[in-house]
Amino acid sequence: MKVIVLGGGVIGVSTAYYLAGAGHQVTVIERQPGVGLETSFANAGEISPGYSAPWAAPGLPIKAIKWLFMHHRPLVIRPKIDPAMILWGLALLRNCTAARYEHNKARMLALAQYSRTCLEQLRTDTNIQYDQRMKGTLQLFRTQKQLDGTAADIAVLKRFDVGYELLDRAAQALVGLHDFTTFRSVHCQARSPLKTLDRLDVRREGDRVLIAATARSFLHHQVRSMVGCLAMVGMGRWAEVRVEQALAARDRGALGLNAPPEGLYFVSAKYPEGDFAP
Ligand SMILES: Cc1cc2nc3c(=O)[nH]c(=O)nc-3n(C[C@H](O)[C@H](O)[C@H](O)COP(=O)(O)OP(=O)(O)OC[C@H]3O[C@@H](n4cnc5c(N)ncnc54)[C@H](O)[C@@H]3O)c2cc1C
Repeated sequence: MKVIVLGGGVIGVSTAYYLAGAGHQVTVIERQPGVGLETSFANAGEISPGYSAPWAAPGLPIKAIKWLFMHHRPLVIRPKIDPAMILWGLALLRNCTAARYEHNKARMLALAQYSRTCLEQLRTDTNIQYDQRMKGTLQLFRTQKQLDGTAADIAVLKRFDVGYELLDRAAQALVGLHDFTTFRSVHCQARSPLKTLDRLDVRREGDRVLIAATARSFLHHQVRSMVGCLAMVGMGRWAEVRVEQALAARDRGALGLNAPPEGLYFVSAKYPEGDFAP
């Protein structure tokens, strides 16, 4: 069969490749002087099937409105009366419910996993070379709300047996202004157990787990005590919720483990600008 593929981006070129492989006579028509010069040119290069998610998601309509007013906006809408565009927009809005999102994500995941298998085969068959790395994706959430919002994604990942690791969900229970009595040594001389923990980031590097705590000040043994509790979760001896419960107990007796001091380092101090100006 004679086939015309319109557009020589990654989709057009790979479609043409498979069609030609199946014995068809294929012509790729591209308006640019070469292939892969538009969207497929210099994207982030990430191949993460487990990460693929539909745009149509709960909260998208509000987000989209905000995007439209951003300086570097990820979304541009050129208003025109186009029935196809209007119908597409309505379908998008209809799919922004939690149930539709999960359903669609599951479909995308199955397709993405199939695509990855094809890509692996393509690599072997053509010996194409690029900076392929297979270390997975590290996703950073800045707020507890964002982290909680991943529950639907995680349910789908579990269902499709996509490997994932939630590194610091338990840690986020400690971020913010809290009474840290549980995490405070009996020798602590601070007047109040109330402290604001700005950040508690957990990441893994090979077989090392790095935990970075950021705050204006800490109580005596606070960091070691927090790390000890996170270690209990990491070792599977505590459920994540136990960290939150330990915090709420405001009782040193509720502490799981006070981590040893080895490996605890002061990283840096940040002074407010201007305070020490001459
Ligand atoms: C900033 C950015 C980062 C991204 N990062 C990632 C990532 O990390 N991982 C990932 O998987 N995806 C990523 N993507 C998405 C990915 O790049 C696109 O999904 C993919 O490139 C789309 O390929 P395509 O072939 O469909 O489109 P395109 O690459 O846009 O190809 C379409 C081609 O059709 C041609 N064309 C259009 N109209 C005509 C016409 N009338 N006649 C002739 N030719 C025509 C165009 O010139 C173009 O070359 C990213 C996208 C962007 C913008």
